[in-house]
Amino acid sequence: MYDLIIIGSGPAGMTAAIYGARAELDMIVIEKNFMSGGQVINTYEVDNYPALPGISGIDLSMKMREHCDNLGVNFVTDEVTGVEDLGDKKLVKTVQGEYEAKAVLLASGADHSRLGIPGEDTFGGRGVSYCATCDGAFFRNKTTAVIGGGNVAVEDAIYLANLCEKVYVVHRRDELRADKVLQKKLLSLDNVEMVWNSNAVRIEGEKKTERLIVKDKFTEAERTLDVDGVFVAVGIVPNAEPFNGIADQDKAGYFIAGEDGATSTPGIFVAGDLRAKSLRQIITAAGDGANAIHAIQQYLLH
Ligand code: NAP
Repeated sequence: MYDLIIIGSGPAGMTAAIYGARAELDMIVIEKNFMSGGQVINTYEVDNYPALPGISGIDLSMKMREHCDNLGVNFVTDEVTGVEDLGDKKLVKTVQGEYEAKAVLLASGADHSRLGIPGEDTFGGRGVSYCATCDGAFFRNKTTAVIGGGNVAVEDAIYLANLCEKVYVVHRRDELRADKVLQKKLLSLDNVEMVWNSNAVRIEGEKKTERLIVKDKFTEAERTLDVDGVFVAVGIVPNAEPFNGIADQDKAGYFIAGEDGATSTPGIFVAGDLRAKSLRQIITAAGDGANAIHAIQQYLLH
């Protein structure tokens, strides 16, 4: 039986692994993807992580992974399907088998939300994307639309504006939610057109994406944007599915815990974007990972 199983290898999971390895915990990290990093991998440029201005998401993830590897952290690629609380023992069920540990740290993060409009599924992979860094290059010199007004939407639009002939940003309000520095940069770009107070209503085309139809929320007038690609950046949902019910969650499904990551179930801890909190950033996920290990060490002494 391990001391600890960390589920997820984003900044929260990897920081916890670094602190856990230094505390000599007998532990594994279970990661679903072959590449560690979580959502950060899909970030073109990270400009608010101290000491590494402008680093790419992939480079930052690789640095974190290298740090873990240098400390001898054991990563297992497998998909967790459930966690069972048996008191002093926790059972982690995966596609390939079962693992036992005294404590579990849930650090599976969050994933992109979907719009749920006609055409979104039909044209998935044929013009509809959730990751500008991954798919942007397919739209060089073409026209794209980004939907959303948060950091991800604005970062994606800036990235795409470098590649595309034209980029529409469709936002349901008349004010962006993104950090001011990003807003300023976006609004200074000549090939970006803001489509304010508008909702995307459907995506159309023959074999691939050709049109995005948007509706003005005040006049209800529809407008057709001729686009080759639609990038959806309308927020995130917690990757909580395999753990639902193991401890208290908020209405959106995030696990409720304080800074120490201790959930309502003894021995089940949470860190990173999966924790109910107000600021989801790489640095706050990393902070969660460190704090959780401190609390887990105390728990293991009980
Ligand atoms: P977000 O900040 O929640 O923004 C989501 C945006 O999508 C909002 O502008 C929202 O509109 C809009 N939206 C939501 N549902 C919609 C719908 N059904 N139709 C149309 N628009 C919709 O999400 P995010 O930009 O994906 O970022 C997720 C988290 O990651 C945030 O906490 C963000 O700060 C963080 N992040 C961190 C970094 C970093 O650490 N460097 C980088 C990127 C993102 P309203 O504004 O009207 O609500």
